[in-house]
Amino acid sequence: MEVVRIVIVGSGDGGTFTANLLASELRQEIRGGSTSVQLLGEHLAHPFQPGNLDIAFKGAEPRKYVRDETRLLRRGIEFIQDPAVKIDLDGRRVTTRSGRVLPYDHLVIATGAVADPSKVPGLAEGSLNFHTGPEDSRRVWEALQGFGGGTVAVLIAGTPHKCPPAPNEAAFMLDDFFRKKGIRDRVKIRFLTPYPRAYPAEKVSNVVGPMFEKKGIEVNTFFNVDSVDPAKRKVYSMEGEEFEYDLLVAIPPHHGADVIVDSGIGDADGYVPTDKGTMKVKGQEGVYAIGDATDIPVSKSGVVAHLQSVVVAHNIVSEVRGTHDELAYNGRINCPMEVGQHKAIFVSATYESPPEDQTPSTVKYIEKRSFAMIYWRALNGSLERVFDMFFGQTRFPAEAEQHLPPKAS
Ligand SMILES: Cc1cc2nc3c(=O)[nH]c(=O)nc-3n(C[C@H](O)[C@H](O)[C@H](O)COP(=O)(O)OP(=O)(O)OC[C@H]3O[C@@H](n4cnc5c(N)ncnc54)[C@H](O)[C@@H]3O)c2cc1C
Repeated sequence: MEVVRIVIVGSGDGGTFTANLLASELRQEIRGGSTSVQLLGEHLAHPFQPGNLDIAFKGAEPRKYVRDETRLLRRGIEFIQDPAVKIDLDGRRVTTRSGRVLPYDHLVIATGAVADPSKVPGLAEGSLNFHTGPEDSRRVWEALQGFGGGTVAVLIAGTPHKCPPAPNEAAFMLDDFFRKKGIRDRVKIRFLTPYPRAYPAEKVSNVVGPMFEKKGIEVNTFFNVDSVDPAKRKVYSMEGEEFEYDLLVAIPPHHGADVIVDSGIGDADGYVPTDKGTMKVKGQEGVYAIGDATDIPVSKSGVVAHLQSVVVAHNIVSEVRGTHDELAYNGRINCPMEVGQHKAIFVSATYESPPEDQTPSTVKYIEKRSFAMIYWRALNGSLERVFDMFFGQTRFPAEAEQHLPPKAS
């Protein structure tokens, strides 16, 4: 019997969820031996990345936000902990670090994005961050414990980065932290951003900007970092500005995964050129990319990876069964932003509708916090009805081609 081989590269948010959706939808075929689903991952530990903010600024234990990947997967998925080193789109096969070669009929690239402080001179030595993992996030918390006063700078050192609201959240959380500690009057919080305002989308900035001002968080716009001098504790911009700091918390520049670059299948930043509706890798049949790995200019966020996974799983099932009812993603984003004092807003948009006005509320804060609790269950696909009600329409028949360019992140 000919087996239909589905290979998914990357066992993070999008890869794990896509594998589970396929295992659920194609369980008869998998049981009957006519279809296989192989998931390639680098690590056994699966982190809930938004938890990094709590680790860095609230002192949460890193282990609270990690699960064993194999416990998150449905039956029928072959999890292979052996990273891909080459994706050969012409030969339709993936080679792993151990030398295993996996031919595929359908491929999903879900290798995410890499936060890389080494891209800016002095940044790795001179700053801390909460984007390179739970251990580094813990270092931010430890630094805050010994901080008695001075300037804390939050620096956006490259775009796009994971979770557009994360830098703003960091500033709000720092403000909360120092107020609770009773030393807010001894701390200057400086927000260094390459954007022209406190948040890239104007309507959201209209909420965040005045809140920053009220809380005494100083915003320096059009700040494109050039370098950091760890000895002098100074950060320099390409425009010739410089600021001193005592503690620098940076959002490092991001790029696509090494395997994308090494396989020559990405753009200059290592992101995979992808159709923003069908999620097909451009110029390929049966090859998809999702989440942070793509070059689509929507938020690099878990919600986006999740909603794109639904589209990709559906489209692969339609190819396997020959039903030809391809779906397209409508660009829905929904990024929560904690704004301090137990309040939050959500940055919501689609390709056709830019982010709307927001009023910070405790209800939104509770919604954001509850997501940390349901993430693990959400990965196995059992909460899809709830998400469909919450998000509304996020996909449409591909032939409708209603998707327009995104307006903001
Ligand atoms: C501090 C922070 C806060 C965030 N907050 C939010 C939030 O509130 N809401 C939200 O929606 N999103 C948030 N995000 C973003 C969210 O975590 C990511 O956008 C999401 O995880 C993207 O999913 P993904 O599957 O594309 O990538 P990932 O989940 O990063 O998974 C990529 C996987 O690919 C693997 N991989 C890489 N190379 C290879 C290879 N060669 N072979 C095999 N495997 C490979 C990696 O090890 C990883 O497991 C936050 C992120 C951070 C860092």
